[in-house]
Amino acid sequence: MVYFGFDDAVNSLINEYYDEIFTNNRNNPNGCPITMSLYVSDLYTDYKLVKKYYDAGHEIGVHGVNDKRIDTAAHLSEEAKQQRDNLIKHAEVKTDDIVGWRSPFLTSAGEEQPRILNNLGFKYDITVTYDGSPPNDIIWPSTLDYPWPYTCFLNCPRKTVKGFWLVPVIPLQGKNNNYKCTYVDGCLHQPNNETEAFDYLWNNFNAYYTSSRAPFGLSMHAAWFAYSPYKVSAVNKFLEKILALKDVYVVSVKQVLEWMEKPTPLSKLKDFKP
Ligand SMILES: [Zn+2]
Repeated sequence: MVYFGFDDAVNSLINEYYDEIFTNNRNNPNGCPITMSLYVSDLYTDYKLVKKYYDAGHEIGVHGVNDKRIDTAAHLSEEAKQQRDNLIKHAEVKTDDIVGWRSPFLTSAGEEQPRILNNLGFKYDITVTYDGSPPNDIIWPSTLDYPWPYTCFLNCPRKTVKGFWLVPVIPLQGKNNNYKCTYVDGCLHQPNNETEAFDYLWNNFNAYYTSSRAPFGLSMHAAWFAYSPYKVSAVNKFLEKILALKDVYVVSVKQVLEWMEKPTPLSKLKDFKP
């Protein structure tokens, strides 16, 4: 399972990138359209576009109101509630479909974050960074039925919140092996042409595909594509190649978790509702 998680405002500055990548005729091996997760903040967002992506089957998650650092429990609660209400009211997203949260700047509000999100009705948090290295050290999302057993950069969730999912953000390997990129667009050394951009995506994907096959996450900002059309064509080439594999699905984070709750063999995915 490969997922794209885009952060920040959704508006006319970036929608054409999404439209070029998530085209109508690009499907998963079972015939269902490929999907992405959008973690939407309020400022500069055009909710008509959010509704368009929601109606097309993409996941709409919450990224706070102002895309500013959130470091207290009270602030987290306020921003998560308010931005979810914005999405319900202005983009007509169903309350039950809003299940994911990502903190601005991947900065957790602390130990209490999972509990607060769980109490608000969220199902998962995709904020905590885990610096694993393929092939042996790639972890899967997990519920906090037990305290998070791994290391992380800051605010590791050490308390249990039964049934609440933690989806780790796992940095990618940049083109210079000494550097990791937490966001796809966060590399110090950026790919300079289509071949480099394609290799960057493919090599990271392949490290998962040939080892644990944990879900491969591309956490990013659409701003990565600005002024570099070769990055859009690299993503398109990447998608053509992985979707031709027939055992690779490009799905939202919500769908990743739905599959994990009900692991279903490839042969039965045609009838798998999520
Ligand atoms: Zn952001």
